[in-house]
Amino acid sequence: MSDKFDVIIIGAGPGGYVAAIKGAQLGLKVACVENWTSKDGKQQVLGGTCLNVGCIPSKALLEISHKFEEANHGFAEQGIEVKDPSINVAKMMERKDGIVKQLTGGIAQLFKANGVTPIHGRGRLLANRQVEVTDNDGNTKTYEADNVVIATGSNPIEIPPAPMTEGFIVDSEGALEFDKVPKRLGVIGAGVIGLELGSVWARLGSEVTVLEALDTFLPAVDQQVAKDALKQFKKQGLDIKLKARVTGTSVKRNLVNVTYEDAKGEQEQKFDKLIVAVGRRPNTDNLLAADSGVNLDERGFIFVDDYCQTDAPGVWAIGDVVRGPMLAHKASEEGVMVVERIAGHKPQVNYDCIPNVIYTHPEVAWVGKTEEQLKAEGEAYKVGTFPFAANGRAMAANAAMGLVKIIADEKSDRILGFHVTGPQASEIVAQGVIAMEFGSSAEDLALTCFAHPTLSESVHEAALAVGDGAIHVANRRKKK
Ligand code: FAD
Ligand code: AMP
Repeated sequence: MSDKFDVIIIGAGPGGYVAAIKGAQLGLKVACVENWTSKDGKQQVLGGTCLNVGCIPSKALLEISHKFEEANHGFAEQGIEVKDPSINVAKMMERKDGIVKQLTGGIAQLFKANGVTPIHGRGRLLANRQVEVTDNDGNTKTYEADNVVIATGSNPIEIPPAPMTEGFIVDSEGALEFDKVPKRLGVIGAGVIGLELGSVWARLGSEVTVLEALDTFLPAVDQQVAKDALKQFKKQGLDIKLKARVTGTSVKRNLVNVTYEDAKGEQEQKFDKLIVAVGRRPNTDNLLAADSGVNLDERGFIFVDDYCQTDAPGVWAIGDVVRGPMLAHKASEEGVMVVERIAGHKPQVNYDCIPNVIYTHPEVAWVGKTEEQLKAEGEAYKVGTFPFAANGRAMAANAAMGLVKIIADEKSDRILGFHVTGPQASEIVAQGVIAMEFGSSAEDLALTCFAHPTLSESVHEAALAVGDGAIHVANRRKKK
C-alpha cells in the first residue's frame, strides 16, 4: 500500500465515513483513520458517535420503550388486552447492540466496495498535510495526502458538580447501557439528549426528574411548539424542573444525592442513577501538531470558513468539531461538500435548511426560523397552524397530539420556518425542508394535493391557514 493519498480523513463518524465513500465515488484515492476499537480490543469499529453511542442506539431504545409504553398505557383504550407487559432489559440491549453491529459492519463493507482504505489508529495532523497514526500497540506511521479532512466529532461535556462515577453518574453513553430500570432517575440538562434518554427510562418505569438551569424550555425551539410539547412530557410523568442549577453531587449508600438551586433556594434530591446531558464539546485533544497551521475558534471548535476550509491550505474540517448544529446529517452534508470541492466542483451547504429533531413522543422537529427569531430580527411574517387533534389519521393512530406551524414572509409568502410537534414529526419536517430548498411559498403547499387520510394533511391545512384559512377547523372569519 502506498502511503500517499488524494484525501486522508481523520474520523469515521457520519461526517468522515460519508466523505470517504463519496470521495472514492468521485475517483479520489481515500484513506480513513479511525481509532474506535471493539470491546475485545481486536477490531476497528467505524460509524463514530452516531452509530455506536448516539443516534442509532438511542433511537433503538426510543422505539422499543415507546412500544412498551403503548402496551402499558395505550392498548387498553383501543380494545387490545394484554396482561401485565414486562420489559426484559437484557433482551432490549441485545437488540440495540445487534442493530449497531449490523450498521457499523455495513460501513466496513461499503469501504471495501468503494475502495476506501481504513487505517486503524489515532490520527494527528502534522505540517504539510501529513498525518501521523499511532496504533493500539503504540507504533506510529506517517501518511501523506493532497488534502486532509478532520472529522473527529465531539465528546460529552463533564461539569465539576457532577463528575462521572461508575454505575451511578453517567453520560449519554452510560445511559444507553443500564442493566436494569432505575427506580429514580435524575437527568441534568433538558436538551435534546436529556429529553430523549429521560423519555426512554420513564417509559420503562423510572420516576424521572430533569434538572435544567435555564428558565425557558427548549429556547432554540419555536415557543408555541415547545410549550405544547412540554405539556405532553409533563402528562407522561417527566418532572421537568426549569431554573434548577445543579451545584453538587455525592454518592452514598448506593444513591446519588444531588443538590441544586432553584427560585426557592438550595434543594436536594436522591436518585438511583444520574445522567449528565449538558452538551458536547469538539474533540481536538492531541490532534494538531503545533505547526499544523490549523487554528481553533474562541469556543474551541476548529476554525473553518463557509466551505469547511481551515486556515491550513488543503486541510478541511467537518461535523461536530466545527461550528454549527451538532447533527449527523449536517456532518454528512459537509463531508459531501468538501470532497466534491476537492474533486473540483463548487457545491455549498445550505445551512438555513438543516432540520432538527427531538425524538420524544410527541416528536419535535423544525427547520428555519422561529417566531421569536423573526420578531427579534424585525421581520414581518404570517403564521398558519393546524392541530393533529383535528387530523383523522392521527386519531386513528391514537396519537392526536401536537400541531404543524408554518411561518411565511408577510409580503412574498415565502416559507421562513416550519415547525412540528406530533406523531412522525421527524418524517413530516422533510416536507418543510424540501419546500424551503425550492423557495416555496405557503400557497405552493396549499395548492398541492395531499393523500387522505395522512398525517401530512396537517401540513396542507397549516399552509391553508397561512392564507384564507384551514378547512377542518373553525377559523375566526378574517375581516376584509
Ligand atoms: P462523530 O460521530 O463523533 O465521529 C468522530 C469519529 O472520529 C469517532 O469515531 C472517533 O472515534 C474518531 N476520532 C476522533 N479523534 C480521532 C483521532 N485523533 N484519530 C482517529 N479517529 C478519531 N444527531 C442526529 O442528527 N440525530 C440524532 O438522532 C442524534 N442522536 C444523538 C443521540 C446521542 C445520545 C448522542 C450522543 C448524539 C446524537 N446525535 C444525533 C449527534 C450525532 O451523533 C453527531 O452530531 C454526529 O455523530 C457527528 O458526526 P461526526 O462525524 O462529526 O463525529
Ligand atoms: P444541550 O446542549 O442542548 O444538550 O443541552 C444541555 C442543557 O444542560 C442546557 O440547556 C443547559 O442549560 C443545561 N445545563 C448545563 N449545566 C447545568 C447544570 N449545572 N444544572 C442544570 N442544567 C444545566
